[in-house]
Amino acid sequence: METAEIRRRWLDYFEKNGHVVVPSAPLIYDDPNLLFVNAGMVPMKPYMLGQQTPPWQRATSVQKCVRTGDIEEVGKTSRHGTFFQMNGNFSFGDYFKKGAIDLAWGLLTTPQSEGGYGIDGDILWPTVFKDDDEAFALWRDHIGIPESRITRRDENDNYWSMGVPGPGGPSSEIFIDRGPDYGAEGGPSVDEDRYMEIWNLVFMQDELSAFRSKADFDIAGPLPTRNIDTGMGLERIASVLQGVDNLYEIDEVYPVLAKAAEMTGKKYGEHSGHAATASHPNDVHLRVVADHVRSSLMLIGDGVTPGNEGRGYVLRRMLRRAVRAMRLLGYGDKALPELLPVSLERMQASYPELAADFPRISQIAYAEEDAFRRTLDQGTTILDTAVTKAKQSAASLGGTSAPTLPGSQAFALHDTYGFPIDLTLEMAAEQGVEVDQDGFRRLMTEQRQRAKADAKAKKTGHADTEVWKELRALGATDWQAYQALSTEAKVTGLVSDGARVEGLGEGSTGQVVLDRTTFYAESGGQIADEGIITTPTGQLRVRDVQRPVKGLVVHTVDVLSGEIKVGDGVQAQVDPDWRVSACQAHSGTHVVHAALRQVLGPSALQSGSYNKPGYLRLDFAWNSALSKETRSEIEEVANLAVRQDLAVSSQFMTLPEAREWGALALFGETYDEQVRVIEIGGPWSRELCGGTHVAHSSQIGALTLTGESSVGSGVRRIEAFVGMDALRYLAKERALVAELSGLVKVQPDELPDRINELLARVKDAEREIGRLKQQQLTAQAGELLSTATDVAGVRLLAHDAGELGADEVRSLVTDLRARLGDGAPSVVAVTGAAKGRPVIVIATNGPARDRGVRAGDLVKVAAGVLGGGGGGKPDLAQGGGTDPSAVGAALDAVERTLAG
Ligand code: ATP
Ligand code: MG
Repeated sequence: METAEIRRRWLDYFEKNGHVVVPSAPLIYDDPNLLFVNAGMVPMKPYMLGQQTPPWQRATSVQKCVRTGDIEEVGKTSRHGTFFQMNGNFSFGDYFKKGAIDLAWGLLTTPQSEGGYGIDGDILWPTVFKDDDEAFALWRDHIGIPESRITRRDENDNYWSMGVPGPGGPSSEIFIDRGPDYGAEGGPSVDEDRYMEIWNLVFMQDELSAFRSKADFDIAGPLPTRNIDTGMGLERIASVLQGVDNLYEIDEVYPVLAKAAEMTGKKYGEHSGHAATASHPNDVHLRVVADHVRSSLMLIGDGVTPGNEGRGYVLRRMLRRAVRAMRLLGYGDKALPELLPVSLERMQASYPELAADFPRISQIAYAEEDAFRRTLDQGTTILDTAVTKAKQSAASLGGTSAPTLPGSQAFALHDTYGFPIDLTLEMAAEQGVEVDQDGFRRLMTEQRQRAKADAKAKKTGHADTEVWKELRALGATDWQAYQALSTEAKVTGLVSDGARVEGLGEGSTGQVVLDRTTFYAESGGQIADEGIITTPTGQLRVRDVQRPVKGLVVHTVDVLSGEIKVGDGVQAQVDPDWRVSACQAHSGTHVVHAALRQVLGPSALQSGSYNKPGYLRLDFAWNSALSKETRSEIEEVANLAVRQDLAVSSQFMTLPEAREWGALALFGETYDEQVRVIEIGGPWSRELCGGTHVAHSSQIGALTLTGESSVGSGVRRIEAFVGMDALRYLAKERALVAELSGLVKVQPDELPDRINELLARVKDAEREIGRLKQQQLTAQAGELLSTATDVAGVRLLAHDAGELGADEVRSLVTDLRARLGDGAPSVVAVTGAAKGRPVIVIATNGPARDRGVRAGDLVKVAAGVLGGGGGGKPDLAQGGGTDPSAVGAALDAVERTLAG
């Protein structure tokens, strides 16, 4: 049975049984504690916790999930994907244990011909919480499962909680016995790969008053309403119903694996049995590729872009692990352009939006692969050098110990170049070099500790959120930013240094909460309004405005004069000039976005923005630099929209309505039920936006693009000035041009030609200087010849050429060697030092080499004295170092070595 069909049957079954079908929430959800949605109940949490009244008593969903904690399990067990879909059914104060067990049993065991999954009940093994006699009895007496197949387990396995005081309850999990091919007999407690958990039923019934650990908490009493939360892994049940060994082999995943196997010429499963735990490494790599490619597709689809922290890092890690796994399988070419479309092909049946968005998704993924390939190439070069060095130093120790790469170098490769340690191990091993893994791990631990300390320091600011929650409990701020610039208001709270206070005096700084305000709080890329709050006795300057919790607007102020007290009647006044400029900038951002998409196409979607009076910047998905022509075109389209004086309007509607309308919703933002849509020129620009805007596009004034750059793989940034700032910017450029044309004495139009001409002349002059220097050197060379001395039968010409650069030293050396001729064994050694970096070049002639003198060997000795390294061939070699004062000693060392 195809996964899409399993999913359909699930929803049908529960809908028939009175559940409302709720669509999957995006993977990024409005919960600061969660990187990604990791269970079907996440979007249901407010109802489960009693924070909101559930709109239905029974609901069902197929929720997209990502569990970053399972990343290391991928491919090594049969049942862990990083991305997976959790089928859930939920009851809010409606049916409880009996209902949940009945429903689950019904769907699992109803024959396929009657719409169920048709699983033989005899291979199902339920577990229950050790004290949950009720659930035990339901399975035994009501369903009829023999006691021997029902396992009682403790808090660690069968008690659900959120890890904090609040709701909790016992759970009952349904395992399926996959048979002796998959592991040892004896039930879920013996082998979790043979007995695979497919479905978890949570019976939320207890109110926890204290929570010390997963297995140690206090139950205060029963919950007022009891809820049911269940989760069944869609991929897991698919692997069972499709008769395959693991979830990487189901219809939604396997085609990618097969493609990867074909590309790498590996035969999947050749050396592995049914149990994933005993798989050949190549099979594990292939599963990693299949899993991670799919997860990346889904993550980018939901708006994640690769980055160095948080969600972006998870995505980056998955993309890189996939590419790396392909490398380990021996495939060095670009892999994602082959693999990602295969995954799309499989996933679009359930997620049709992926197909429309694929140009953007693939662009981001491919750019990340390209970047990683560069990293790998760079890292490989560095690794090769390090490996060679490790071999040399082992050889210099007489070859008694195996060559070892220092832990510090493995760490530097990992830390600076993003070069993964297992790749370092793998590639070093190929060359017979070991890696000091202990050293590497020690450095990693140290780094982790530093990071932890950092995070802790950041957290101290968190004391505040409690204060904001308290103030929010007094009531939501009546927010009038769209309607007016000024309003009367009452002071409902004051905060100083993170604590509530009754008053703030002259010269102090703090936060002010009003019952009503016209100040715009920073959000959606627009910075906060500035302005003044006037109290009965004084004036406050508003420096920043934030919304630390939903519904509460907080002004950060400097008290300029007088004081402010809780309960004061005040006047809140936004600086009108500021607001006009802020509106210009925000509307300008929408105009530039629309212009970008008009010129580049719809995949150039904004991924972030920032605007403040006079300035805006916008990040968008695109992976190559924009040409000068394209930039001008975008600028022109934007300014044309300004000139056409398009009407700007705002209206509220529901999110689905807004989507229907084609309004662009930004990723990573979460929206309320009612959203605000800003239109500029009707459908030309439609975006979900809470910002402040001009009424007509002409009010934006001039708009000039100032820069375009890369801010990460697949993301470009465009910057612009608007309004008066655009004019000032252009005026400054004009003044600069005038100054330059004055300096070089031509008309502005002729500047480029003139400057090119000047540059050419500078180049010619440099070349001439070089030629003269060379002449001078050649003249000196004659004199130098006479300074050659005899060292153990070899003529040695050693000379310090002062501040000469490497190229010049080299040509001097070869010139001197030619002049010395081949009559007698001769060696030339010359040092120089350009910009404080000493260099030494040594040359030998034929007769010297016949006597076993090698330039490369001599250079190594000399460079060692200079504090560096070097090498080359027996006839010519070069080295360098860090200590220019040691050149004399280096030449002496050459002489001593020659002397023997
Ligand atoms: P396991 O112990 O096997 O990792 P779990 O206890 O973490 O499972 P739950 O948190 O109870 O799982 O999630 C409910 C259901 O979601 C599980 O019964 C399983 O079918 C599915 N599930 C959980 N994690 C994964 C995963 N990484 N990949 C696929 N399905 C999963
Ligand atoms: Mg798990």
